[in-house]
Amino acid sequence: MTNKEQKSGLFISFEGIDGAGKSTHISFVQDKLMQRGIKVITSREPGGTPLGEALRDLLLKEKMHLETEALLMFASRREHIAQVIQPALDAGTWVISDRFTDATFAYQGGGRKLAIDKLNTLEQWVHPHLQPDLTLLFDVPVEVARARLDATRTLDKFEQEKSDFFNDTRNEYLRRVAEFPQRFKVIDSSRSIETIQQELSEIIDALCAKLTR
Ligand code: ADP
Repeated sequence: MTNKEQKSGLFISFEGIDGAGKSTHISFVQDKLMQRGIKVITSREPGGTPLGEALRDLLLKEKMHLETEALLMFASRREHIAQVIQPALDAGTWVISDRFTDATFAYQGGGRKLAIDKLNTLEQWVHPHLQPDLTLLFDVPVEVARARLDATRTLDKFEQEKSDFFNDTRNEYLRRVAEFPQRFKVIDSSRSIETIQQELSEIIDALCAKLTR
């Protein structure tokens, strides 16, 4: 069964390196959709369920083997899909998730160099038929993201990584854009919040226009 046959809501993922601006724009996109009468929930990964949030806490704080990290990301995701994403989509509710599987490819694959084959295997196991309908990649140079993070918050385990890690993470995101161009929209996130939100409005307008055609 294909993605489209399984559900009626749309699934949108937000991706990008830490500090790219994902969280800043999630409620803006949610509000825009709700103004159009669309039912939409927001969630995040790792997390999104009580078990997932407990795993998030471990993932963001504890040192662990790289494969343990990847497996826990997918364990959290399995629960998230079962408890939140699929039931919402089946009910016709749209889902916006702050990160999904592209993040595991980017961070554990690109950043930490876990073999992409292993991640492909886990993806096939955990969600063989589900992919986001749209992935917004907030793309920004690593130095810009770093400066934003330094100005605002105490850094978690991932956010404390060096520039090389984030360059590799960003490059893996961009490699996936080239692999799945029909699903991704790359947002130049080095611009002002207002300019980005203008573009996000246009993307939503175009998406909704396509659905009513
Ligand atoms: P992410 O969720 O991708 O880690 P955030 O949305 O939390 O990133 O943004 C990190 C910080 O950068 C926040 O303080 C946010 O206000 C700021 N920020 C986000 N987007 C922009 C932007 N386009 N210009 C300037 N600052 C931004």
